[in-house]
Amino acid sequence: MLGKQGSGKGTQCVRLSHRYVIPHISTGDMLRAEVKSKTPLGLEARRYLDAGDLIPDEVMLAMVASRLDRDDTRTRGFVLDGFPRTVAQADGFEELLKPVEIDLVLNLMIPTELVLARLVSRRVCEDCGAIYSTSTPPKFNWTCDICGGDVIQREDDSEEAIKNRLNLYESATAPLVARYEAMGKLVDVSGVGSPDEVQECLTSVIDAYQHGGGFFPPVPSEEKL
Ligand code: AMP
Repeated sequence: MLGKQGSGKGTQCVRLSHRYVIPHISTGDMLRAEVKSKTPLGLEARRYLDAGDLIPDEVMLAMVASRLDRDDTRTRGFVLDGFPRTVAQADGFEELLKPVEIDLVLNLMIPTELVLARLVSRRVCEDCGAIYSTSTPPKFNWTCDICGGDVIQREDDSEEAIKNRLNLYESATAPLVARYEAMGKLVDVSGVGSPDEVQECLTSVIDAYQHGGGFFPPVPSEEKL
């Protein structure tokens, strides 16, 4: 899944993982877990995360390679969230998967004004990563409805880090859109709308793909975005 920060990628990847019973691999969640457990990688990664900078490509590739080595991904496949984020990561990832290829790249599209509003109001569970917002808080006192963990604002959802992350998205990650488009794997989906509406669009694309025929719904028009 491609999409800038705040496009709803995390929320939608969790939903797709439940809907299709496939592992959700979020490199951001994996890194935050390392930081929380104060592992050597976590201690090193923390300054990158807090500033909204990208972790070096070779570290990310090693992390994803070890995750993909687990049985669940071999039997069920996976939905990848937050990776690859650079051309070098995409190159390394393709090598890693050979002879298998990824099926689809879903590109969640959203205007930057909406992204800023979403990120500033976003709150997340420190333990399980469940996503809330100031307008849809957990039921009780900022305690996660799912696991009881503390629901907090991410360090990198500060205004300065958000700007840095959006700039990095444009310079480092956006070129992947053209790459996957040229490979015939990209489908644009509008990330505007309620989580249920966006999920509906995503599942219709995946179902059409799964049922063969290679038919994809039309790209959403500019004025809808
Ligand atoms: P996310 O939760 O996907 O927004 O990721 C949070 C932070 O983790 C990013 O701002 C980066 O610091 C780091 N990160 C996650 N995935 C990657 C990646 N594929 N490459 C480099 N850094 C990453």
